[in-house]
Amino acid sequence: MSTGPHTSRPDFEIAGHRISPGQRLSLDVPIVRLYTHAPLPIPVEVIHGRRPGPVLLVCGALHGDEINGVEIVRRLLHSSRLDGLSGTLVAVPIVNVLGFVQHSRYLPDRRDLNRCFPGREDGSLGARVAALFRREVVDRASHIIDLHTGALHRSNLPQVRLQLGVDDASRQMAEAFGAPVILNAPLREGSLRAYAQGRGIPVLTFEAGEALRFDEWAISAGVRGILRVMRKLKMIPAGRGRSAASEVALGASWVRAPQDGILRPRIRLGARVSPGQILGLVASPIGDVQAEVPAPGDGIVIGINNLPLVNRGEALFNIARFKELDDAESAVDEYQEALELGLR
Ligand SMILES: [Zn+2]
Repeated sequence: MSTGPHTSRPDFEIAGHRISPGQRLSLDVPIVRLYTHAPLPIPVEVIHGRRPGPVLLVCGALHGDEINGVEIVRRLLHSSRLDGLSGTLVAVPIVNVLGFVQHSRYLPDRRDLNRCFPGREDGSLGARVAALFRREVVDRASHIIDLHTGALHRSNLPQVRLQLGVDDASRQMAEAFGAPVILNAPLREGSLRAYAQGRGIPVLTFEAGEALRFDEWAISAGVRGILRVMRKLKMIPAGRGRSAASEVALGASWVRAPQDGILRPRIRLGARVSPGQILGLVASPIGDVQAEVPAPGDGIVIGINNLPLVNRGEALFNIARFKELDDAESAVDEYQEALELGLR
């Protein structure tokens, strides 16, 4: 293939670095300092393909304790499928570096970085980190995949979240990703997703697993999903990857604890439930005061609380509702079978 001066694409510029076509570069974007004044840069890896194409940003740990995305990015960057990439991959394993080193979802001032976008360069810590990350990295992207997990002590079934009915490009990315569930999720003000969507950048959030844990099924689903999106965007050749079924959920809501006590769950993540089915029991330690937790309706369990110690009103099971529940159940079954066969 000719790579002469007439066919060569321009260099990619990011955070003060220039990357030529065919080059791969690890760089540190200086954004914050520790109290000791030591710099704590955001690590970024850029692969600038020889051929033109989208600029895909894949980022993890915007919530500092959501570490599955860190491993997803590492594996993605070692994938041989990226050889001969068209377009540019900008991979950021850890956005919230301050939260990450403290095992915390939040910044040291307890702000949620994913509520700080677009941010302000003369603002508080969260506003500043958001503004600098946006200016140096996010604004360079044409497409974004943002990697998350459930909160502390909560696991999510692999799912893609986006606001449906806004743009076709995001929806096509979501369908290509092939997580068993696509959840229509309203935008949260100040989130990276809201900022990107407001600028017309196709964006989706991948949610899988639990904070501060590596979940193999969540990580492998994430890597394969991103590669499928890259195939769809023609950044890597079509072919060897299997497609996977997804079903769009109408919405999801948490079933909450009916009383204070100790939870004994009766169902697993990914299970199909029917109205009135007992999802778990919450009891006093001796078990004399016990309450059932019934399912309010049909659906699939897409989120679950793993900490048995619960207070009344606490979120226990997140149940997604579907128009075609049978199809949703098969998408989850197919996903779990593929996982067991090592196909994901
Ligand atoms: Zn998150």
